[in-house]
Parts: sequence; C-alpha cells; structure tokens
Amino acid sequence: MSRITKTLKLPMPADAVNQQRAKQFFGAYDCEMMVGPSDTPFYLGTPTPRICRFCGKSEPEVSFRKDAHVMPDFMGNRNILSHFECDTCNALFAKYEDSFANYLGLARTFNQIKGKNRKVPKFKDNKTGLEVSMEAEGLHIKTIQGQDPLVIDEATNSAQLITTRPSYVPIHLVKLLLKMALCLLDESEVDDYRWAREFITSEVHDEAAQGMGILSVMIHSVSGPPVFPAPFAQLYTRNASAPAEIPEKMFVLYYANYYFQLALPFSRVDKVRFLGITPPLQSIDLPVFPLLIGETWLAEYGPATFRRVDFTSNQKRKGEEHRFSLAFDKMIEVPIKPEPPNDASQSANDVKPA
Ligand SMILES: [Zn+2]
Repeated sequence: MSRITKTLKLPMPADAVNQQRAKQFFGAYDCEMMVGPSDTPFYLGTPTPRICRFCGKSEPEVSFRKDAHVMPDFMGNRNILSHFECDTCNALFAKYEDSFANYLGLARTFNQIKGKNRKVPKFKDNKTGLEVSMEAEGLHIKTIQGQDPLVIDEATNSAQLITTRPSYVPIHLVKLLLKMALCLLDESEVDDYRWAREFITSEVHDEAAQGMGILSVMIHSVSGPPVFPAPFAQLYTRNASAPAEIPEKMFVLYYANYYFQLALPFSRVDKVRFLGITPPLQSIDLPVFPLLIGETWLAEYGPATFRRVDFTSNQKRKGEEHRFSLAFDKMIEVPIKPEPPNDASQSANDVKPA
C-alpha cells in the first residue's frame, strides 16, 4: 500500500491549556499517515484482490463499482478514494454522511464548502421559512416577517440566528469518523480492529457503545472563513515514550472550521496492554489534540471553542435547536423576487430540516 508522507506545520496559539495539550499529545503520539487535498485521484489500497476492509467480503459476493471517498464528498473531498470499500458498505456509510451533514446543518452554508454538486449547499427551514444561501455578493438570508429567526443588532453589526437542525442519529457521526480512521490504517493492522469494523458495519455493538468515554468526539471550532476548504485527515500512533493507559491510535480530521478527534477503540494490542496494567486500569486516558491555528486568525475572527461530545446515542434526534452568532460588515435589504411554483434550484445536496 502506498503511504503519503507530508510535513505539516501549522501555527499554535500560545495559551497554557493548548500548550499543555500539545506537549501531552505530541509527546505520546507520532503521525503515521496523512491524506489531504489532491488535484488528481489518489487511491488507498490495491485494486486486486478487491476485499472490503470493513465487512471483510470480496468479489463476487460484493461489488466495488462506486467511487469510495475516504472523506465525504460533501466535505469537499473530490480525489482521495479507496479500493477497499464495497458498494454495500458504501451505501451504509452514505447514511452516516447524511447524519453528519444534518448535524452540521446551517453551518455547512456558513462554512462555504462546496458540496457534491460543486455548490455551497442552500439551507431551508420549512417551519420558519428561513432560507440561507451563498451568492456571488455574499451570504443571503431570507426570512418571513413575524417568524423571524434572525435577531439583528445593528449597533454592533451582529446577529443571532436561531434555527432547527435537520434530524440526525448521533452514533452515525462516531461511525463515520471511525470509518475514515480505519481507511488510514496500514493493511497489516486492520485485523486488530475487529470490534471497530463490526461496530461501523452493523448495529451489534450499539447498545454496548452507549455513553462509552473512548468514543467521545473532541471538537475544536474556529470562527471566520473556512480554514480547511478541502478536508484532510491524520492517523497518530503511540510512540515508545507514551504512557500505557492511552489508546494505540488517534484520528484527527481537519474540515471547514473544525478539528474532529476520535480514538480508535479496542484494538487487540490495546486490550493486551490495558490488561497488563497493575493495578487494573480504571479509565482510559484520551490526550486532547491541540488547536493548530495562528494567533492572528483568532484575533481577527474571535476565540475558538473546544467541546468533548458524547455522540453514542442511537436514537434519532429531531427538532434540535441550532444557534449561530453572526458578525457582518453591512446589511442590504433586497426586494423579494417571485418564486417559480417548484423550486428547481433545490438539490439533494441542500440542507433541509426534516
Ligand atoms: Zn463492505
């Protein structure tokens, strides 16, 4: 399997918490694999024999006809593909992508990342009539009077926008991140991650996974225009000086204005090492990946936030409130154009609360 090695140097804020995170994380982990934006198609894995890395099935039991994106197309990944994802798993992972895209909701329009149809997705909330789209001259926000989800403060050039997230299944977010992480494993390590592969290709471990700390997703968000218009991903591996109670591998996804971090759960080598710890291990430690961005960015667009989120619920979430704080340079009132009876510009890639 071909490996990509690139050096990535990103600046880091100097605050004490972040410095401590960087010291702990980079003291314990080394970057093993990285895939990032590519102008030409780049494939992980080998075209023959075709075996699915996730379900373990091969041709002719399963087919491999569809393009298998390592990171979702909706995130702006065009060319990083794999040979080891069968069409059955691909269709299942597409559902996880829908949940992930819905969770981000309106943020996808604000993040200005071109989706599947090479356009920034429009957002439409049928309940309030709110419509947000990215046009040549800037962000368009259409609201209906009396139902106004936008509270504007012209004195400070800021606004609060309150809308609804389209429905999503939280555990799908964990499964999608884990799928991307498994793509970056060396072929020789895939067998070690049997639990993770079963977890993402079936629901057999969903109940056991509820509230599991090792599956918590750590997210840094920064304000401003998209920092990463095309996503890239890194896989980190424990090094020789790492403490025993941390997982073997960590995955980091850089996408739009986010850094998502997830530990790869329950490898065989982790199990053996954790069992060998005396006194018995009480909890697994998850070093936090530091925020990598310049101080000037934060000074211009505002501070970053960090959250550790439990997305292990397998129950569909509907009607969740989604709040945004916006800053703008100037506001222009635009007369409303009459709409055609069917909105033909609406595409499947657009964001819509269900
Ligand atoms: Zn498969």
